[in-house]
Amino acid sequence: MKIIIGCLNHEANSFATDPGTFERWHRTNFVAIGDEVWDYKDKRGAHLAGMFSAAEEEGVEIVPTIFLAGAAPVLTREALDHGVEIICDVIRRNRDADGLCFCLHGAGVAEGIDDIETYTMRKMREAAGKDIPIAISCDLHANIKPEMLQEADAGVFGMKQYPHNDKFETAYLAMKTLIAKLRGEVDPVTAYCPVPILIPCSGASTLKLPMKAFPDHMAAYCKEKGLIDVTFFNGFPYADTAHTRCSVVVVGRRGQDVQACANELGRWVWEHRHETTVELYDAAGAWEKACEEAAKPGAGFVAINETSDNPGAGCPGDGTGMLRELLRRNEPGTIFGYIYDKEILDKAMAAGVGGTVSGLLGGKSDRCHGEPVMIENAVVRALSDGRGIYVSPNKVGQDVNYRGLARLQIGNAEVIVAGACANQTFDDRPFVLTGADLNQYRIAVLKSSTHFHGWFDDHAKAIVTANTPGNSTENFSLFPYKKLRRPIFPLDPEMTFEP
Ligand SMILES: [Zn+2]
Repeated sequence: MKIIIGCLNHEANSFATDPGTFERWHRTNFVAIGDEVWDYKDKRGAHLAGMFSAAEEEGVEIVPTIFLAGAAPVLTREALDHGVEIICDVIRRNRDADGLCFCLHGAGVAEGIDDIETYTMRKMREAAGKDIPIAISCDLHANIKPEMLQEADAGVFGMKQYPHNDKFETAYLAMKTLIAKLRGEVDPVTAYCPVPILIPCSGASTLKLPMKAFPDHMAAYCKEKGLIDVTFFNGFPYADTAHTRCSVVVVGRRGQDVQACANELGRWVWEHRHETTVELYDAAGAWEKACEEAAKPGAGFVAINETSDNPGAGCPGDGTGMLRELLRRNEPGTIFGYIYDKEILDKAMAAGVGGTVSGLLGGKSDRCHGEPVMIENAVVRALSDGRGIYVSPNKVGQDVNYRGLARLQIGNAEVIVAGACANQTFDDRPFVLTGADLNQYRIAVLKSSTHFHGWFDDHAKAIVTANTPGNSTENFSLFPYKKLRRPIFPLDPEMTFEP
């Protein structure tokens, strides 16, 4: 048996204003093509490792195509077709393949295509020249569309955890189910129930209540009913499509009433909608709250996560909302890790450790995330080539490359500047690489919505979320949605819903 695999994940931020080129698509991660994909075989923090593992157990031959995962603006058609063609080229050369197992995010958008997952699956079948079975492994933030369920006839499987610590398990189950279908051991059927809720990312960590109850309830229901899989998809609020909302997807065996199961769970989600809302602070409010937490007894630092300029949600990572507040407060024992600004990084590299840097910092990528901040005679405390390996559970073993890091002393505060926007801060890598021991600080600021919890929950004394202006703000009423279906909670709080 031969199965073609790959990962073509795009999470669209419809409000981002920079062009969605192929390079921009994979800016926050690495792209691997063809045999390079084998590098992900043993990296449990990557989706494809689960597929490799299941295939190996079952003695199935694997043909890899691509690994590309990134949150970015709406893609150009050229960028999307470039990625899809890399896959289709391999499929055309392997027409004896029996099945296709792919990670497709579920919230991808390109110019003129609001559902790039269905588009990709149709292109793949066309390239195969036959009605080949497809299983897909999706992100928890997928905006599920009915056409995806029709195309993925071997099942739609989703991550349950946020931070996404279960990429491996999700892709593993997709591959196992596809193999079982190909062997005639199971005939999977999939149903879904869309639920009109926009879920703020920064309150959606499944490491703790209230959101932990959602995957726990789905897992218990799945076991009780003897289903293959049940996923509660949060949806991705920053992709503006007619299918942007959360949903429950049920994969069962032919003969099981999967639609009734999905509806029952959709009703449960709706009844618990008030648990998805979050408490948010602007820059000044977040700083005050963090100082309050820092003053409480006990050792350690307080983390402020700036959720509204999250590179993991397609934002630039050089927004100055919290940066400006940190510099204005000018307090010892405070640090920002990190902000992306190649120009300032280059100046710091040229000045060397002990040298000084002046100029405009941050706010250069667009006009949505604050104006640049003038810094004068910032002292370069440390430099790094910016290469590291993640330790956070949801990225463990994967490389990160900030393309240079500098830790600057600006007044009493410290700011780590990177030469590339290498995604959100998942763990302490930017700090460690520049020789900063987080335990020596009172307050550490970073850009992320929830993935940072994977490492910081075990290391920070307290966590405060800052919701400054930006394209991943939790204040959904600020976005000029055009396609989002109304009514939807919480924008229309009085609405009613029945699956
Ligand atoms: Zn996600």
